[in-house]
Amino acid sequence: MAFDYDLFVIGAGSGGVRAARIASSHGARVAVAEEYRVGGTCVIRGCVPKKLLVYGSHFAEDLADAQRFGWNTTGATFDWPTLRDNVASEVDRLEGLYGQTLGNAKVEIFRQRAVIAGPNLVRLADGTEVSAANILIATGAWPSIPDIPGAEFGITSNEVFHLQQLPKRAVIAGAGYIANEFAGIFNELGVEVTLVTRGDKMLRSYDQEIVEKLVGISREKGIDIRFNFKCPAIRQQADGSFMVESGDGADVETDLVLFAIGRVPKTKDLGLEALGVALDKDGAVIVDEYNRTNVAGVFAVGDVTNRVQLTPVAIREGHAFADTVFGKNPRTIDYGAIPTAVFSNPPIAGVGLTEEEARATLGDVKVYKSDFRAMKNVLAGRNERALYKMIVDGKTDKVVGLHLIGPDSAEILQAAAIAVKAGLTKQAFDDTVALHPSMAEELVLMK
Ligand code: NDP
Repeated sequence: MAFDYDLFVIGAGSGGVRAARIASSHGARVAVAEEYRVGGTCVIRGCVPKKLLVYGSHFAEDLADAQRFGWNTTGATFDWPTLRDNVASEVDRLEGLYGQTLGNAKVEIFRQRAVIAGPNLVRLADGTEVSAANILIATGAWPSIPDIPGAEFGITSNEVFHLQQLPKRAVIAGAGYIANEFAGIFNELGVEVTLVTRGDKMLRSYDQEIVEKLVGISREKGIDIRFNFKCPAIRQQADGSFMVESGDGADVETDLVLFAIGRVPKTKDLGLEALGVALDKDGAVIVDEYNRTNVAGVFAVGDVTNRVQLTPVAIREGHAFADTVFGKNPRTIDYGAIPTAVFSNPPIAGVGLTEEEARATLGDVKVYKSDFRAMKNVLAGRNERALYKMIVDGKTDKVVGLHLIGPDSAEILQAAAIAVKAGLTKQAFDDTVALHPSMAEELVLMK
């Protein structure tokens, strides 16, 4: 049977775009549908604009520190609309490039919503139906909203990049990636930040000693962190501000509530249930290691599968899918030792096992630490220390985890993660001559 396309991709985010482009390079006839903007969460309202806000906000500290380095920065002021609009322009530019890339790859783009209408059949929002031999679901994820009275008063990471003006006070609900990143951004920009979380931990997947350091530094910078804050309701007050209830009387008054309590796979009303595509309890598409669903010819990659919600992972999954199905090169993804970072202030970065995980799984574990003050912070008179931890398997001497908090930790970790991924030993680190003076040299000087 002849289909209109060899591949129809639903969702032009990181995973979908890569899959479409590579499938086309293998000779497939490819179309992609996108209901919002080409580029997906990472480019449009995630990693990219967030990182630019991290840079933009950090000037507050840099300008203060600059005075100790001889610069007179008195009178420097900040203008939110300038930063917001420049970031938005950069996002527009990147969106254009993504569209261009797809066009150059001869991928047809439908800028409208698409749903699955039946086996090998996709229906676009304008009613057009097209057939495809293969369908790839790459619709990503969507911010969770708590089911509480007053939830409608809060915003999410979808809206936060477009604020008309910065609030005087902000409550951030959640204590994961987005919460800590925006706590840092808002704090630097002069917003009074309260971060509230339901439990007694934050950033659960990270080494908790590193996280404790972040909690300490964040509090030192003026971020009010409240653990065990149940947030049963949010009320709007007569003056337009909000009261975020704590459940124990320690309510917080604020001008903005940002929910950062995780992201749910975007599978609603896509026609998946009708086709019999199996979803898990969170609505994620269940796939095997080749990104295949239980329905022949239907695949899924990226956040919608809820395996690892990270852009570089979605890109790899999309690429592997295209190589497997259209490139006669079946391959799977290695999910081991994925380096990750939280662009908090200061940033955290980690790869491999945390100390807790290593002790639970390996037994014989050696932990090396360096707790130091970055040279720049010393001259700036900034009493903010960095912490690097190396987790070593006592039996093999292999470095099984690296966990950093400190300036530029994400930049430093990317290179070091290669060593962990390659299974290098502590001795190999020791054998490497330090690059002096740098923060990264701490990695080869741990005793
Ligand atoms: P995270 O998964 O990082 O954290 C979720 C937070 O919300 C946790 O503190 C969790 O608390 C809390 N939470 C979960 N459910 C509820 C609930 N029903 N009520 C109250 N609190 C709740 O989510 P984010 O939204 O910050 O980010 C989503 C994903 O996006 C991340 O997992 C990450 O994969 C990706 N991301 C990656 C970034 C990066 O790489 N730098 C940046 C931003 C996002 P508890 O611990 O108690 O469960």
